[in-house]
Order: sequence, then C-alpha cells, then structure tokens
Amino acid sequence: MIHISIHEQACRGCQLCADICPTKVFTYDTSLMKAIISHEEDCIGCLSCSYLCPSGALHHTDHHVVKNFYHDLEFLSRMEKFL
Ligand code: SF4
Ligand code: SF4
Repeated sequence: MIHISIHEQACRGCQLCADICPTKVFTYDTSLMKAIISHEEDCIGCLSCSYLCPSGALHHTDHHVVKNFYHDLEFLSRMEKFL
C-alpha cells in the first residue's frame, strides 16, 4: 500500500498538492498553514503532487506509477511565482 509523507518543516502551505490531487488525498490545515494527508488510502500514485511541490516536501513509497496530471498548462502557470 502506498505511503505518503510530508516534510512538515519544508511545506510552505501553497496548497498546490491539495488542488492537483485527483482523489483529494490532502486537506489544508488553516491553523498550521500546512497540507495534511487525510485520505492516504485513496492515492493512485500519479505523483503529480510530488512533481509540483515547490518545496520537495512530498515523498511516496510502495507505489506503482500511473498517469500524472502535472502537465496541465493552465495549472502550471500557477507555478511561475515559485520559479
Ligand atoms: S505542494 Fe508542497 S509545499 Fe505546497 S502545500 Fe503541498 S506539501 Fe506543502
Ligand atoms: S500521487 Fe497523485 S493521487 Fe497520490 S496524493 Fe499525489 S496527486 Fe494525489
């Protein structure tokens, strides 16, 4: 089964992972201002969140790779502020 970890100190709370995830694995903790893993069991291993995370804070283990979603050009335009 897939295991996801978030490096808590590295997460900058941009919410890109929560927005791109097709199966809504993440939620956003407004008090901590960080992403949290709410439904790890729903992860399909697309790794879109991991590719997009500007902090490299997301790590997956025990996954098989399927279609990713990070090539959505409109969504990628939101990355400009991190480049
Ligand atoms: S994409 Fe990375 S930095 Fe942004 S909220 Fe998710 S884990 Fe945190
Ligand atoms: S790998 Fe894909 S399905 Fe899994 S948490 Fe990341 S964006 Fe969601």
